[in-house]
Amino acid sequence: MRIACVGAGPAGLYFALLLKLREPWHDITVFERSAPGVARGWGVVFWGDLLDKLYSTDRESAREIEQASFGWDKMVVDVQGEQVLYPPSRGYGIKRQRLLEILARRALAVGVHIEFDHEVTDPSQLPECDLIVACDGVNSRIRNETKGFQTDVQLGENKYIWLGTDKIFNAFSFPFVHTDSGWIWAHAYGVGAESSTFIVECPAETWVGLGFDTMPHEECLAALEKIFEHSLDGHQLIGQTSDETNAQWLNFRTVTNKHWHDGKTVLAGDAAHTTHFAIGSGTRLAIEDAIALADNLQRHGEVKPALEAYERERRAALAGPQIAARLSAQWYENVDRYIGLEPRKFSTLMRRRRSPLLPHLPPRLAYWLYPTSREIPALRSVRGWAGPGIIWAYNRLRRS
Ligand SMILES: Cc1cc2nc3c(=O)[nH]c(=O)nc-3n(C[C@H](O)[C@H](O)[C@H](O)COP(=O)(O)OP(=O)(O)OC[C@H]3O[C@@H](n4cnc5c(N)ncnc54)[C@H](O)[C@@H]3O)c2cc1C
Repeated sequence: MRIACVGAGPAGLYFALLLKLREPWHDITVFERSAPGVARGWGVVFWGDLLDKLYSTDRESAREIEQASFGWDKMVVDVQGEQVLYPPSRGYGIKRQRLLEILARRALAVGVHIEFDHEVTDPSQLPECDLIVACDGVNSRIRNETKGFQTDVQLGENKYIWLGTDKIFNAFSFPFVHTDSGWIWAHAYGVGAESSTFIVECPAETWVGLGFDTMPHEECLAALEKIFEHSLDGHQLIGQTSDETNAQWLNFRTVTNKHWHDGKTVLAGDAAHTTHFAIGSGTRLAIEDAIALADNLQRHGEVKPALEAYERERRAALAGPQIAARLSAQWYENVDRYIGLEPRKFSTLMRRRRSPLLPHLPPRLAYWLYPTSREIPALRSVRGWAGPGIIWAYNRLRRS
């Protein structure tokens, strides 16, 4: 088969290397608009389940990814300098640039062709092939030029900017800072021995109130360094990614598609679906798409049944993360609702933000229903039978 992948992100590179590794007779080319070694966006977090999956599909790249990753075993919520530790959990951070370098090198080593500096804006620009994998990210041109997918894009309400810093965050940290224009916070985690990711997020009113809508980039970095000086400890924020473009304030785009394949074109990764960064899963899901697509092509041997099975399998797998991502994003869009609680309770509800009940319950009642540190079996059983009654009564009250 002749296969063209558009986009050398995690989805495109992992799919290409995996299929080539298993079925070397395919002719696979990845077209990437950027130069080698260039990646937009800082680092990403992931958990052990992704490493397990990588080890079970390609040990060689898995080992390199593990070695290049930065391990953390603490999560800290910091509200105006008062810190609360989450229960222990272990995760990893890796620079996107590093991850893509490893995958690209491995793909080349197994015989995939990669054409860097080659932007594809329309499928008609591609050479004749049996399968086109559109893995060109959230704003996929291939998807947008192919009518059959019926794409829906929802803009999140909050503003965010994806920055780096030269401070090493040993714990996955969430500093919340109050300003005259409202609350602003960061999601910060180490991604290597020299740097960390520092994503800043706030409501649109805070963003405008602080003047970020009109402020030049350098001034904006300086203002953010001042706001987060307690967490950054005098370290700098870095606004440029490896392609030397400045990071920009954006609204998160949640992408869904009614169909994932149309003729010989199939979507994978962010082109097919996005999940808010608050659940830190987009890279894992992109890699799982790549594995499922390679598996199904191998299993079915023909494009049509393989794409049908792939779409069925991945659509089912996405349902849970998409709900979790929506609830998580909504929690961050309603931080004002919870931030009045004392930090320990606030951080407990932050941990429970994927619960569908949370937006409908008064925060104090919700905290009572979800005690974690003081959880005792008797309280659990009271919560079990009293909880639904309380929620029902509360909703009746709200509607009346
Ligand atoms: C702020 C933020 C934080 C995030 N944090 C995390 C996290 O902690 N953990 C996590 O798992 N995920 C995270 N994600 C999500 C993750 O980055 C994406 O889900 C993941 O990169 C998707 O991989 P992909 O291969 O589908 O797309 P991408 O990584 O976007 O790759 C697409 C590639 O296609 C190329 N391309 C685009 N258009 C063209 C074209 N016309 N022609 C040729 N090439 C093209 C691009 O240059 C790019 O290299 C985060 C996302 C954001 C926005």
